[in-house]
Amino acid sequence: MIIVLKRHASETDIQTVSDMVSSMRYQPRIIRGVEQTVIAGIGDELSNRSLEVLKNLPAVESVFAVQKKFKLVSRTYHAPDTVVNVGGTLIGGGTIPVLAGPCSIESYDQFRASVQDLVALGVTIVRAMPFKPRTSPYDFQGLKYDGIKIMREVKSEFKVAFVSEVMGTQQIEMLSEVADMYQVGARNGQNYDLLEHLARAGKPVLLKRGMAETVEEWLSSAEYLLVNGCQQVVLCERGLRSFDTVTRNILDVGGIAAARQLTHLPVIADPSHAAGKRSLVLPLAKAALAAGADGLEVETHPDPVGAFSDASQQIPTVEFKAFLDALAPWLELARRERSSAAEAE
Ligand code: PEP
Ligand code: MN
Repeated sequence: MIIVLKRHASETDIQTVSDMVSSMRYQPRIIRGVEQTVIAGIGDELSNRSLEVLKNLPAVESVFAVQKKFKLVSRTYHAPDTVVNVGGTLIGGGTIPVLAGPCSIESYDQFRASVQDLVALGVTIVRAMPFKPRTSPYDFQGLKYDGIKIMREVKSEFKVAFVSEVMGTQQIEMLSEVADMYQVGARNGQNYDLLEHLARAGKPVLLKRGMAETVEEWLSSAEYLLVNGCQQVVLCERGLRSFDTVTRNILDVGGIAAARQLTHLPVIADPSHAAGKRSLVLPLAKAALAAGADGLEVETHPDPVGAFSDASQQIPTVEFKAFLDALAPWLELARRERSSAAEAE
């Protein structure tokens, strides 16, 4: 870590700070500039206590970390793309799958029709959401246990993998028999207790970026999963909260590109929750693929007008073939580009 001392720091101040750096198990190197002195504290910032506390000393102006707070997720630690296997579908390394399905499970008929139509279009991972995180407690909260029963019935009929959101640790066990991948939603991206429990659940995790989370915080959340034993992690950019209501959230394409450079984990995008409007989902999906996304998660519904949640952004399933056809050149380009990059590694 780098400790910058104030301009007027005396020799005694410099010695005091240097001694504190040693006492915290870093080797101090004093660098005397023309105007200011800097002390480099050499040591592993992940295993040692942070020197950031030193910024409270009167002689210290600022303290900077050199190492990132995440290690296992970083490309410097593991360069090749991680490939995550969700019930036989690979995410990462150039496959570019499109996950799709309704915002929530509303009834047996609605969910079965969704799965039937999506499977016919080649979708292999379907959104199956019996638990819904809603801003208002008065809004539809999901069918919960009845939704899990519906998942079980539909799964016995179709060869398909399900991705399901969990909001609390008790839902992990409830879903374990029917879900193939757990989703952590934007509202729980920094729920570290949930992440630690999920890491031990033995299934892949789709980790959404919080609506006001920095890329580094998002990667640190993923680090919780890896350090606690889950290697099969997919990141998902779903848009950031902003002042502008023309879209529901701002899809951070720069964040997708940056995350792909910083981490070996696959990074997919959810253009539906970013757009908030059906007509904007396709252009945002294209933008996400152009920025480097390893796949997409898109909301579809057999009859979105009557949907219990997110009615205005879901794509009618009958229009989803046209959506995929329009996206095909972008998917093809992304597959070619990502596969040749993965082979070059
Ligand atoms: C979802 O995908 O069902 C969802 C609630 O999205 P987000 O967590 O990104 O808001
Ligand atoms: Mn939704």
